[in-house]
Amino acid sequence: MQLNDLYKEIILDHYESPHNRGRPPHADIEAEGSNPLCGDDVEVYVALDGECLKEVHFDGSGCAISLAAASMMTEVLQGKSREEVRQISDQFKAMMHGEDVALPEELEDLESLKGVANFPLRVKCALLPWVTLEHGLANEDAGQRVSIEVE
Ligand code: ZN
Repeated sequence: MQLNDLYKEIILDHYESPHNRGRPPHADIEAEGSNPLCGDDVEVYVALDGECLKEVHFDGSGCAISLAAASMMTEVLQGKSREEVRQISDQFKAMMHGEDVALPEELEDLESLKGVANFPLRVKCALLPWVTLEHGLANEDAGQRVSIEVE
């Protein structure tokens, strides 16, 4: 099996059997992000426990890449501190902008999206859940759902 096929399989797997999908009963942060170029709409829900993202969920509709990226994101960020989230997010963004980033083993599913960096329009799809989460974290005092559009 070629590496590309393996990556494709990981992405399809997250798309077809998403992790942490659906609006949770309780969320401290609710953010929705849209990528009008592709028609992706992703909602991100976070339950906080102090400095930790105790639970991260997503919902929405969109292309396979945006939804697989959202599923992977919720998976790797579960229980992480805000600082860890910032670091992982920075690494992921650098990778999606074509930088050679060595991700730690626990983040290896994210590597499956590496090839997307060659398709600038699809990079927005992969980054959408991350941008949406960041926007939610930055506006957590808003006390209501916040939204952002990537362009
Ligand atoms: Zn998309």
